[in-house]
Amino acid sequence: MKRFGWFFVLVAVLTAVLPIAAKKSVAGAGGMSLFVSGGAEVYEIDIEEYTLRVLISEAKDCQSEQALYALAVAVRSCAAYFSLYGLKHESFDVCTSGDCCFSLGDPQKTDGAYLARLKNALDATKGEILTLDGMPAMALFTACAGSGTRYCAEFPYLSPVASAERCSSHTSTVELPTDSDLFFTTNDELCLVYGENEKCEFGIAQNKMLSADELVTRFSLPSYEFSLEILDETAVFHCRGLGHGCGLDICASDRMAKSGFGYKDILLKYFPNLSADKIYNN
Ligand SMILES: [Zn+2]
Ligand SMILES: [Zn+2]
Repeated sequence: MKRFGWFFVLVAVLTAVLPIAAKKSVAGAGGMSLFVSGGAEVYEIDIEEYTLRVLISEAKDCQSEQALYALAVAVRSCAAYFSLYGLKHESFDVCTSGDCCFSLGDPQKTDGAYLARLKNALDATKGEILTLDGMPAMALFTACAGSGTRYCAEFPYLSPVASAERCSSHTSTVELPTDSDLFFTTNDELCLVYGENEKCEFGIAQNKMLSADELVTRFSLPSYEFSLEILDETAVFHCRGLGHGCGLDICASDRMAKSGFGYKDILLKYFPNLSADKIYNN
């Protein structure tokens, strides 16, 4: 009983001290930085500069100021996560491939008015990130989640969030002949199983289970929200949304901002399990 008591006190002390210590070591007076691999060389880049470059390539459809602020905080959170933990690479924090980490835009080649809007969003939210237990969280973002975001197996704290209204602009169809090698056979059905917010979780064909990831890759689908219709000899996937569908929904957050919500409301809606935190001021 006595030992258990000590353990409890120790855990309580560590929990109180660790986040503060980590914040001091990762975000000193000068902020944080990341090691970026761009082609042959690895270079160091300030977290605000990295966040700006990610925004240049990701924020094009973010028209409202408050939605842009929310996205700036989400991107900076991911950058802080990369800086602290890395993710996929051993000898540097991030690469510049959008398929692996995030793609980066070039400020020199960016329209002046757009760049000014992005810099304003960065200044207005300087040092703000989202945290889990006091540590930077991977606050992912997606172009459009259609009816809502989906469960993220890699970062389970990004819980599925339904949109106030499902997006009607990001809809598309993907067609292929049912006798294509990609499809199965005309006599076989592909049975789709859905999770929250109309997202496909997996499919069953020829007595085999295919994950949603496998289906999206196999048929080059734009999102995880899709239904299948077989018309004569054509398989038609009706798709809604754009991107992986996890975390902050840029399209829906833009609608939220247009109807008067602030960036903190948007962050609270999409990241209900995370806390807003300021890790540096200058
Ligand atoms: Zn990478
Ligand atoms: Zn949309």
